[in-house]
Order: sequence, then C-alpha cells, then structure tokens
Amino acid sequence: MRSPPSRILRSLRISHPAKCFQLRGLMTLAIETSCDDTSVAILEKTENKTSLHFHAKITSDNREYQGVKPVVALSSHQASLAKLVKHSLSSLPILPSAVAHLKNALLVTDENGTQIRKKPDFITVTRGPGMRSCLSAGLDAAKGLAVAWQIPFLGVNHMQAHALTPRLVSALNSNSANDPNFPFISLLVSGGHTMLVHSAALCDHKILANTSDIAVGDFIDKCARDVLPASILKESSDVMYGRLLEAFTFPNGPGGHNYIAPKTRTEELVSKMTEYKWALTPPLAETKGGKKVNSMEYSFSGLGSAVKRLMESRLDMPELERKALAKEIMRIAFEHLASRLLMALQSSEMQEIDTVVVSGGVASNQYLKTILRKILDQKGYQKVRILFPPPALCTDNAAMIAWTGMEMWNAGWRSDLSCLAVRKWPIDAVEDGGILGLDGWLKVEET
Ligand code: AMP
Ligand code: ZN
Repeated sequence: MRSPPSRILRSLRISHPAKCFQLRGLMTLAIETSCDDTSVAILEKTENKTSLHFHAKITSDNREYQGVKPVVALSSHQASLAKLVKHSLSSLPILPSAVAHLKNALLVTDENGTQIRKKPDFITVTRGPGMRSCLSAGLDAAKGLAVAWQIPFLGVNHMQAHALTPRLVSALNSNSANDPNFPFISLLVSGGHTMLVHSAALCDHKILANTSDIAVGDFIDKCARDVLPASILKESSDVMYGRLLEAFTFPNGPGGHNYIAPKTRTEELVSKMTEYKWALTPPLAETKGGKKVNSMEYSFSGLGSAVKRLMESRLDMPELERKALAKEIMRIAFEHLASRLLMALQSSEMQEIDTVVVSGGVASNQYLKTILRKILDQKGYQKVRILFPPPALCTDNAAMIAWTGMEMWNAGWRSDLSCLAVRKWPIDAVEDGGILGLDGWLKVEET
C-alpha cells in the first residue's frame, strides 16, 4: 500500500469555537477539493453577525512535478479531508441542552470530552469546475455527511465562489453582505485562471476576457524559475514562485516601485529598450496586422518564451540585471491585465461599474496593486474602487464555498443527491446556461 504524499500545511486558521448559540443562525459546513487544496470551513450567519467558526486548508506537495499532478492531489484529498472534517467538528457552536433536540444537535467527542454541538443546517461543496476525480472526493464526502446528518446539500460553482468572495469579506468585517453590490467587475488572476468577469447578479455572470493560452500565475511561475538565481529557488519551500519573484525584485517593498503609468496606448505597446540592451514586447502588441491589439483576451505564453530565450542566452546574467528583468516582466504582464480592464470600463454597458475586485494568488502582488491604481487614475477612473480580498480568502478555500452556499441557499437553491462532479462549468450563461444550466438544481419556494 502506498503511503499518502507528504504535504504542506499552507494555512490553518481556526477561530475560537463560538461560545454562544445563536438560535436563528444559518450554518453550513463547506468542502473545497477542486484542485490541489483540501479545505473545510464552517460559516454561520445570524441577523447581526457572520462568523467563520473554522477554516483550514492543506495543500498537496507537487514541487517535484513543477505543476499540479492530479493523482498526487487526489491522494492528498483522500488522506486529508476526513481528518479536517473531524477536526472542524470541535469548532461547531456548543448548544445549551435546553434547546438541544435530535434535529439540531450533534454529540461531538474530542480530547476535551463530549459536547452537544449545533448541527450544520446544510452542507456546501464545490461541484465544478476542476479536476473531476478531486471534485468527486469532496462531493462524495459532502453527500455522506448530508445523508448521515439528514440535512440538505448544495453543489456550487468554484468560479462563482471566487466572484462572490468580496461579499464574504464585507459580511465578516461588517455584516454588510451587499458590498460590493451588483454589478461589479472581478479580475481573477491565479495559477489556473486569468479572467475578467462582470457580475450582474448572484447567478448572472459574463466573462469579458479570458486567457487564450496560459494563466498569468503560471506565466509568472515559469519566468521566476528562469530568472531567479538558483540559490533562491533551492531554498523555496513551495511552488509559489511568484511570491519569491516579487520579494527578489522589491526587497524593500513598494518603495522600489517608482511606477509612472503610460499616458497613451502607443506608449504602453512599445518595446522599451533597457540599459542592458534587451527589450520585451507587450503581449498581443505585434500580432498579424495588429488584429489582436485591442481584442478582449489575454495572452502570456509569447512573453514567457521571449524571457526563456533571453535567459538561455544569458545564463551568467548578473543579479542586478535579473532584478531589472523581473521588474520588466511584471510591469508588462500587469499593464496587459490593466489594458483589458480599461477597455471593459470604457465600454458603454459598463458605465455604472464603480468597483473592481482583484482576486487569486497573483492579487497579493503589491506591484500589481500599484500599477492598476495608477493606470485607472491616469485614465480618469479615480472613483472606481479596487478591492483586494485578503490572500487567504482569494486563493482556493472553503470559506468562499461556504459563502456561496449561503447566498444560493437564501435564493432558494438546493442540490439533488444524484448530482455529479463537473470538469467544465462556465459561469457565463451564454455557454451552456451558466451556473443554473446544469442538471441537479432543486428550487425551494419558501426558505
Ligand atoms: P492560486 O492559483 O489562486 O492558488 O494562486 C497561486 C498563484 O499565485 C501562483 O502562480 C503563485 O506564484 C502566484 N502568486 C502568489 N503570490 C504572488 C505574488 N506575490 N506575486 C505574483 N504571483 C504570486
Ligand atoms: Zn480557484
């Protein structure tokens, strides 16, 4: 029998178990297993407060494969999920025996003894999109819990959850679930996605731009492996090379940004010759006949190949020049992200947009924050807010799944126990009906 792969405990955040039971709170236990993170959350929403009673995540160790290997991720889910769920039960609110009855109570035994705790009202799980085998590990566990505890379950869309994350953040901070109010735009920049999404309502999302090749996080990771000195790569404890690239480029933080936004699009698209006698060309700037220069798509693979070629010819590149190259890579990639955001904001249908949410692992990059803000200000969008949810909530996590479950539950949606994991599940209604276009939804009239 193979032993489970070793894994990295990337974040483990557990709030103190809620001391006091809120009679009319709605509580869900949520599971996320769509990729390489196994995550479990318990979220409760009462009239006055939204509380994350439990939130933990275990990431499978894929370092030796330079990317996520599905079989490694699956074994990690299978080894970790049940343990995380077991661990989470000790954070369920304690139920005073006066209000405890079989329908709403669970007897939870842990190292501190046996307690009567409040049973979740429903289970939420990521149904898709993602790796089918990984999703199924979570979905099957969720169905098992729902059947055993005799409560409903909801299979939700992972990308919808990313889009709703800023509303979770507001609910946790101020109990205002409606900030940002619909409509808003999200720029999702992660290891697997580069997407600009317009969200008009809970289930009404439109993809404004998507990457036509690799994701920006993947691109940054590849560049980081080419540009970072070997000594830094060797010391890395995970595959978040993007974070290392930023730390290498800006050892003193944002003070080193010195960024001035280009005044014109021509200035933005030009290949700037550096003092080191190399220049990088912005993505889609020089496609045949300039056809793609203004198309609503992202592209990073060409820029990645140019960096690779440059580094192959300059294996002995000094550290200072590597830093200049890393800064140029980020500047061009982030200006490319900003260019499609600007095009979206300038279109006539987007005039009412006053909030842009930037989420995904790359959103923790401070240089990206500087560049987006300065470009929006330069183009007259000083009044458009840019929100960056905290990294723990904008990388893959179960808290956002729990929140999506909460919003879908309140809109009257439940899932049938027969529903299956789905690898592809576009949130854009134009493609196969979007979030509600899948089978397995049940609508409850009175909630
Ligand atoms: P996610 O797919 O949302 O879990 O995010 C992971 C991706 O975010 C990886 O490609 C990381 O290298 C990237 N990432 C994380 N932190 C940073 C950062 N500070 N700068 C650039 N990329 C980052
Ligand atoms: Zn994700």
